[in-house]
Amino acid sequence: MLNIGAHLSASKGYAHMAEEAISINANTFQFFTRNPRGGKAKEVDFNDVNKFAELSREHEFTKILAHAPYTINICSAEEAIRNFGIETMKDDLEKMEFVPGNMYNFHPGSHVGQGVEKGIELIIFGLNMILNEKYSTTVLLETMAGKGSEIGRSFEEIKQIIDGVKLNHKLGVCLDTCHVYDAGYDIVNDLDGVLKHFDEVIGLDRLKAIHINDSKNPFESHKDRHEKIGEGSIGVEAFKRIINHPALRNLPFFLETPNEVDGYAKEIKLLKSLYKE
Ligand code: FE
Ligand code: FE
Ligand code: ZN
Repeated sequence: MLNIGAHLSASKGYAHMAEEAISINANTFQFFTRNPRGGKAKEVDFNDVNKFAELSREHEFTKILAHAPYTINICSAEEAIRNFGIETMKDDLEKMEFVPGNMYNFHPGSHVGQGVEKGIELIIFGLNMILNEKYSTTVLLETMAGKGSEIGRSFEEIKQIIDGVKLNHKLGVCLDTCHVYDAGYDIVNDLDGVLKHFDEVIGLDRLKAIHINDSKNPFESHKDRHEKIGEGSIGVEAFKRIINHPALRNLPFFLETPNEVDGYAKEIKLLKSLYKE
């Protein structure tokens, strides 16, 4: 069975997201833990969390994916911004314990001119502050397009971060198809080669989730503009190979395409029709 979900609005809580996911034939979903500006997270509502647990059991959900606000930057050149990111992520992981055992994805950060090495050093420092043995959530580093001074545009950068973190058994990787294609990994013409390289550098056992997005821009453009499935430079045939690849087919896939809920429903239907049971 294809494990698939889409990025949903968290404004009405977990149970509402689960219902929305069920309505589009998904068995998971992604959501922002708070608004992108990194504002205050909502207080946890026990009724909501319990109803979500019930729905996810009943409908055999796979792990859900929380996404950190993309504006935080734990490798900023400014200490106050770094600390804000660290505090935000800690608070998110505290709250995730109300829906234990799931996943939390974040963008490694932008070094803003300090250089890749300094950036990686600050991300490692931040993660060592954030991670705690008591958290049951797996924290995922997202592969990035390499826009501006983004870190995480190569598998080597991600591996370097993982290696520096003490509690790195809590870490995994979320591969974004739009981002890696933008970064120069040719998943259209050489999916096997890209995954072999991922395995050699990071290890496929670290790969926990896929962001499944087409790209508005050509290969290696470092732009990060998502497109609807089949309408961009990656294309339907490549997605068919991606969702069926033996190394990927059992992972959860999350749509972050420019869609409302009905658009996601169509894409899920399409992807399910391409999946070989
Ligand atoms: Fe992301
Ligand atoms: Fe993504
Ligand atoms: Zn993106």
